[in-house]
Amino acid sequence: MKPLRTTLTPEEMPKKWYNILPDLPEPIAPPLNPATKMPISPKDLEVIFPKALIAQEMSPDRYIDIPDEVLQAYMIANRPSPLQRAERLERLLKTPAKIYYKREDLSPGGSHKTNTSLAQAYYNMKEGVEKLTTETGAGQWGTALSLACNHFGLGCQVFMVRASYDQKPYRREMMRVYGADVHPSPSTITDFGNKMLAKDPKHPGSLGIAISEALEAAIKGGSNTKYSLGSVLNHVMMHQTIVGEETMLQFEKLDERPDYMIGCVGGGSNFAGFVFPFIGEQFKKKTDTQFIAVEPTVVPSLTKGKYEYDFGDTAGMTPLLLMYTLGHDFVPSPIHAGGLRYHGAAPTVSMLVKKKVIKPVSYQQKEVFDAAIMFARSEGLVPAPETNHAIKAAIDLALEAKKKNEKKIIAFNYSGHGLLDLAGYQNYLDGNMV
Ligand SMILES: *Cc1c(COP(=O)(O)O)cnc(C)c1O
Repeated sequence: MKPLRTTLTPEEMPKKWYNILPDLPEPIAPPLNPATKMPISPKDLEVIFPKALIAQEMSPDRYIDIPDEVLQAYMIANRPSPLQRAERLERLLKTPAKIYYKREDLSPGGSHKTNTSLAQAYYNMKEGVEKLTTETGAGQWGTALSLACNHFGLGCQVFMVRASYDQKPYRREMMRVYGADVHPSPSTITDFGNKMLAKDPKHPGSLGIAISEALEAAIKGGSNTKYSLGSVLNHVMMHQTIVGEETMLQFEKLDERPDYMIGCVGGGSNFAGFVFPFIGEQFKKKTDTQFIAVEPTVVPSLTKGKYEYDFGDTAGMTPLLLMYTLGHDFVPSPIHAGGLRYHGAAPTVSMLVKKKVIKPVSYQQKEVFDAAIMFARSEGLVPAPETNHAIKAAIDLALEAKKKNEKKIIAFNYSGHGLLDLAGYQNYLDGNMV
């Protein structure tokens, strides 16, 4: 029997996260205070984040030990995760390429997001924080943070974009199962929410608005309440590197090296987590892996955005970050890949795109669902609409390899399952997707 999955034992799981900051081609531009437009001091951030995470956000250390309690929690979340070979998909495509995917769908919430939610909840708990506030779009981040807060004994308040709150009841209920307090955003419990509702009582909400509300709730909640963000920030990218570090060990076991590594990009965390350890190695050893970031054509921050300082939210409350952005008031069209509907992208990922270390590409919604159906019918798994973007890019590269008769090795991050996104598949299968 040919093993189609490469696994690691719990003992083999990496015990440190990789921090790319000291290895970047140039120092990352400092976040700016939204009021003064001057570089922000760590002290300014203490209102919303615990000290440990602020230190990680700016850390010059290449590796940071993963605390024991977080390693334990990772095992409950099904780490280490398998690297799986998509052999049936390869046969269907008749490609000489090998296709591998990293199974981040196996966590209890069904996505990679627990890799950082567990770490963030842990550090907050250690510093005596009692409650975290956050935003969620499609609901995956809210689910992951609810689970993590429950695990480490914290309260959790989630502002969920109203369109999703109404249309995706199952994610909402999952958060409530873990004990979170879920509000549709714009909500009536913050000033900014009320301001938005005064303009439009039926406001469908956006991720930017929900972030503003969660920040306001954390600031007004006092010193035992802090805020948590599921992507974009340096410490979030770092927590996700467990994914790429495991993948590196798995490729060593296979005695292979990927020619292409692919991930979809919303804020950039699953992509960064998957590729940063390999990019770090490439800076040292001049390997020739190509790193491909995939985004939706209708939210083209990396392919069409401007590289400039912008806010992370709509109200302009977050620090300004230097990144590729479509503008903080950009209103993305309502595609099913809710996790990719964000106006900016992580400063680290943005810089590496700017420096041409990462290649960004974009695809339309319909073609990524075509790819997902092909994947589901060959591999047997139903992917998240976000993940469909990575699958489409992998299939295109496998077909290019076929044309050139090249035995390329293609790896993508299978960031999550789509079992709570079947409305998107219904839309596609009924022929209503454009
Ligand atoms: C949230 C999410 C994404 C997008 O977020 P990133 O920070 O860019 O990773 C992608 N895939 C899935 C399954 C998600 O839940």
